[in-house]
Parts: sequence; C-alpha cells; structure tokens
Amino acid sequence: MDAVLLFSVLNNKITMIKSVKIASKFGQQYRYASQVLPQLSSEKYKIIRKKFATVQETDLHYFKHTLGENRVISDESDILPYNIDWVKHCRGALICEAGCVLETLDNFVREHGLIMPLDLGAKGTCQIGGNVSTNAGGLRLLRYGNLHGSILGLEAVRADGTIVDCLKALKKDNTGYHLKHLFIGSEGTLGVVTKVAIHCPALPKAVTIGFFGVNNFENVLKLYKSAKSSLGEILSAFEMCDQEAIESSVKYLNQRLPIPEFPFYVLIETHGSNDAHDEEKLNNFLKKEMDNGLILDGTITSEPTKMQYIWRFRESIPAGDMNGTFMYAFDVSLPQSHYYELVPILREKLGDKVLKVSGFGHIGDGNAHINVVTEEYSQEVTDIVEPFLFEEVAKRQGSVSAEHGIGLKKPQYMHFSKDESAIQLMRDLKQLMDPNGILNPYKVLPEIK
Ligand SMILES: Cc1cc2nc3c(=O)[nH]c(=O)nc-3n(C[C@H](O)[C@H](O)[C@H](O)COP(=O)(O)OP(=O)(O)OC[C@H]3O[C@@H](n4cnc5c(N)ncnc54)[C@H](O)[C@@H]3O)c2cc1C
Repeated sequence: MDAVLLFSVLNNKITMIKSVKIASKFGQQYRYASQVLPQLSSEKYKIIRKKFATVQETDLHYFKHTLGENRVISDESDILPYNIDWVKHCRGALICEAGCVLETLDNFVREHGLIMPLDLGAKGTCQIGGNVSTNAGGLRLLRYGNLHGSILGLEAVRADGTIVDCLKALKKDNTGYHLKHLFIGSEGTLGVVTKVAIHCPALPKAVTIGFFGVNNFENVLKLYKSAKSSLGEILSAFEMCDQEAIESSVKYLNQRLPIPEFPFYVLIETHGSNDAHDEEKLNNFLKKEMDNGLILDGTITSEPTKMQYIWRFRESIPAGDMNGTFMYAFDVSLPQSHYYELVPILREKLGDKVLKVSGFGHIGDGNAHINVVTEEYSQEVTDIVEPFLFEEVAKRQGSVSAEHGIGLKKPQYMHFSKDESAIQLMRDLKQLMDPNGILNPYKVLPEIK
C-alpha cells in the first residue's frame, strides 16, 4: 500500500537578520569569536546589492504578530548557523524559510507503514520545503524516482503574496500546464513552497544491504549492470566510493570498515517483501560476482544496527572531508561510461596543491560527487578547477549540477548544460512571476552582461 500525504511546511522556522557586522578580517575568511567563518556571499560571489529594502523593526513586529513571539529570531548569534550553507562556503544575509525536517517526516510516516520517497545524508536537518525547492535526489532515487514524480501537488506563495494552490493529491491530472514543476527545483526563485502532497511508498518489509570491495572502476560499472539484471525490482540503491573518499569517513567516525581496504567500494541496498528471499538473491549475486572476480570481498546483512553501521561510512564522506579541512564539493551528472574519468584528471592537474581528490556517488543516476580537499580555502585551487571541470563535464554531455542545484555558485556555468533558448525562457518566467526580483535574488539565473 502506497499513500499520499499532505504536509504543511509553513512557519516551522522563520529567521530574520538585520545587518550584521562581523569582527575582524583574516585573509579570505573572517574570525568570529573562536570560529572561522566563511566569507559573506556578497563578497565571495562579488554581488552588488540591488535596491531591496532592508529589514526594519516594523517587519520583525509584523512577523512576531503573525507567527508568535518565539517563532522569530533576530539575535545575531542565534541566526548565524542558518546563514551558513552546509559546505560552509558562504553566508546569506536574510533567510525566511519554513519546513518539517525530512527525518521527522520519515519517522512519522514509518509509524503508518510508509517511507519518504527520498533519503539523504542531510535528513536530520534539511526541510521538506528545501528538498522540494532544490529537487533533492539522494540515495534511493534509483528506486523511487525524483521529486518531480513523487510530489503530487503543492502550495506556494508568489512574490506578490498571492497563494498558488496546486495542492492536488491525484496521480493523474492533465488539466493544462503542470505548474507544480515550476516550484520543484527552482530554488525558491519563483515562489516559497508552503505545503506539499507527497506520494509515499510502502515501508519495505525486507531491507538488505551488501558492502563490497572492488579492484577498479571498470568492475564497479560491470557490477552495476549485473546488479540491475540479477536484483531487478528490489534494487533500491547502488552507491560507489573510492578509497580516498571512504578513508575520510573512517577517520571521522573512528570506526573500522567491515571489510579490508580496496581501491573501490560498492554499497548495494534492496527493498523487498521477503527477508529470506532477498538475502538469498544478494548472496547468490555475491557468490557469482566473487567467482567472476568483480567482487574481491564483501559482507551482507539485514540486521538494522549493522546496516546503519555500514551506511554511515557512505553518508559521512562530506563530514569527513570537512573535518578540520576545506572541501570543494562538485556535484555533476555524467554518462556512466565517463562517470569516474574526471577524478584522475583532477588529481593530476592539482598535484600536491590539494590533500586529496575523491569520487563517490549514486552511480545508477550518473550522479558523481567529486570532492577536492585542501587545508584551507585556496583561490588558486578554485581557479584551476573552475571552469575547467564544468568544461570537461560539458564535453562529455553531462550536467554541471546533478542534484545540488545552481545557487549563487553556478549561474555563470549554466550555459555548459543549458541552451540559451532554455535560459531565456527561464528569464521570461522569472520576469512574469517575480518582476522585482525579490525571491532569492542573484541565484540560479545568470546575470545579463
Ligand atoms: C550531509 C549532506 C548530504 C547531502 N546529500 C544529498 C544527496 O544525497 N542528494 C541531494 O540531492 N542533496 C543532498 N544534500 C543537499 C540537500 O539536497 C539539501 O541540503 C536539502 O535538500 C535542502 O534542504 P534544506 O532544508 O537544507 O534547504 P536550504 O539549504 O535551507 O535551502 C536550499 C534552497 O532552497 C530554498 N528554499 C528552502 N526552503 C524553501 C521553501 N519552503 N520554498 C522555496 N524555497 C526554499 C532556499 O532559499 C535555498 O535557495 C546533502 C546535504 C548535506 C548537508
């Protein structure tokens, strides 16, 4: 039994900020109390502020009156964490957002025999409004598809304050333009998502995972093809990471991997209806591919604590790469045959200017994450990697953003993946829906030069 659930994502968190003066400047970054803070996004992305109003006391009164006194925060130190993006690259100056935390929703629907159709490392903090607005992909897209499919309807507030009600929970509704899609993945530039209707799949009765060591990327790819045909409909995730990626989470978690060191690792998960049947299928797969030499060593488990133990190694890679170091996180789409090519190319190009370059991701979707790790932020490294990496992605018919979106960082690289005619239509839509450009200004759309 699948189900459709309606979630209101309004007003769980509203944060406002007045102009914040930061203590002292230190190189490219700032020091605030004992923490090193990223640059302000206006400086990092050289944004010249447009003629927007600034937050006044009257605005704060308005929100306190509307939402309640304790739902509005304006104290500088309370606001600070919300103004820093997850990779700690920049601060925004005003956030006004809402939402239910993904993990809370998942726990809730599990009590009703369902699961959320998406799962990602950020589940403990990210909100469903943010997930919808960024069209977050995650670990089980392979099985449950992306949010353009799972979100059946939504409600959003337009720039002029009008509410767009597309909150239908129907699976089929061909009444003209599919307007919900405008808000999914548009990163808040066309409206603020306030309610969503989500198709939630049934909680699988049986979950099994396998964690395997592999010798080279070619074999990872062969293993994926074999898993697709051997495991078929029960395959819910196929994740890969290289040795450099996993060693970050091993160090961060301070725990031992369940298998010895290998150049590559594959994590396979199945969602099915029969434990014994699924485990048998996975065991047969393991035996066959060990005989073929594709898998060098591996472990299979259906025990929840052991599965969680293994998943943490995959999910903690970004946290490990930011553990006392600086991480440049690249999120690109590539045809599977080119999936890993850019990692060795970048390693050679960057040499000892960086601590490491690692590759991992959702291979079934062609979504490659490439992390470049340095002691601290380096403009020289940025200039070597960008736009080089995006040019190489374009040469291979990939996309400069697989699932993390465009934000402030990539508008100038959008043309590598989108034709000018499509970018112009995006501009026209933005002009129609937000003529004053007040919704997430500077994001997504490239400036006209
Ligand atoms: C450890 C980690 C692992 C991750 N793994 C994955 C992964 O596997 N797959 C993946 O796709 N992503 C991944 N991400 C990124 C993730 O998709 C985003 O962090 C998340 O989906 C965004 O939700 P948020 O609530 O954090 O939004 P925020 O970061 O707060 O906002 C993201 C954008 O959406 C806008 N926005 C937020 N709420 C709304 C709203 N209600 N209406 C309109 N606009 C809004 C914001 O203005 C901003 O532009 C990961 C992040 C972390 C930290």
